[in-house]
Amino acid sequence: MTITETTVGSILTRTGGYLQGVASHSLQPYRGCSFGAALCGAGCYVQHSRHILQGRAWGSFLEVRTNAAAAYAAQAARERRWCARRGQPFGVFCSSATDPFVPQEARYGITASLLAAMRDQPPDRLIVQTHSPLVTASANALVELARLCEVRVHVSIESDLDRLPGLPPPASSVERRIEACGRLRDRGLFTVATVAPLLPIADPERFFGRLAPSADAVVLDHFIGGDGSHTGGRTLRTPLPAAMAAIDPESVTIGYRDRMAAAARRIMPGRVGIGAAGFAGRYE
Ligand code: SF4
Repeated sequence: MTITETTVGSILTRTGGYLQGVASHSLQPYRGCSFGAALCGAGCYVQHSRHILQGRAWGSFLEVRTNAAAAYAAQAARERRWCARRGQPFGVFCSSATDPFVPQEARYGITASLLAAMRDQPPDRLIVQTHSPLVTASANALVELARLCEVRVHVSIESDLDRLPGLPPPASSVERRIEACGRLRDRGLFTVATVAPLLPIADPERFFGRLAPSADAVVLDHFIGGDGSHTGGRTLRTPLPAAMAAIDPESVTIGYRDRMAAAARRIMPGRVGIGAAGFAGRYE
């Protein structure tokens, strides 16, 4: 993988589309993602962005935004005023096009520097979205920030299966990510397991039963309606649906999400979110 260091003119992007009702801004500490060649990268919608890829293979590059914290410090007050004029909270979704806790975070500390910058100028709400158990290394900073603003930590756990036929393994096992949720929740952080995109689940009762003590809530989202296209067209161009169908043909239909959501509600009543509403923190 090619790793380069770069600087950016701005780091807070006003959201549109799917994320608009979730947070006012998205924030990417890196461009590209070290997990792009892992299981989650197979269906990752970012791989369709020519603007980001610029001819490179998804998962083959990572641009380290070395001035991310300074860019946040320079932008935060202006973007907060922009939110105030619209009567909406200043909410930051970190991240939607990379992972804030790629392995390289241990060396570069870009996300850590952003959390420190947010301590000086906290948003109203911070949603951290990650596939990586390395998020636990930032638990102290997140706990400190949670005293200043609403913090939710979303950990992606799409299934109870570590392997799908013909696809690469995940960057970290299902078990390690559930354990990470538990450690974050034990620290008092509001922790959400995001089952998104929903993959076939071998044993729904057991899976949600394992999540129940480790996460405050779960959010389920299907690639149909959840990948930025209305009918899942982006994901249908990837090998993910065929691999899902090989395990359970029903899993590539939206009805599967509803059946899994019903199973989740039986075990975690009042703690289950669906789609964008779930990412926005609305649970039933
Ligand atoms: S961690 Fe997120 S951004 Fe990175 S490849 Fe996986 S789904 Fe895509």
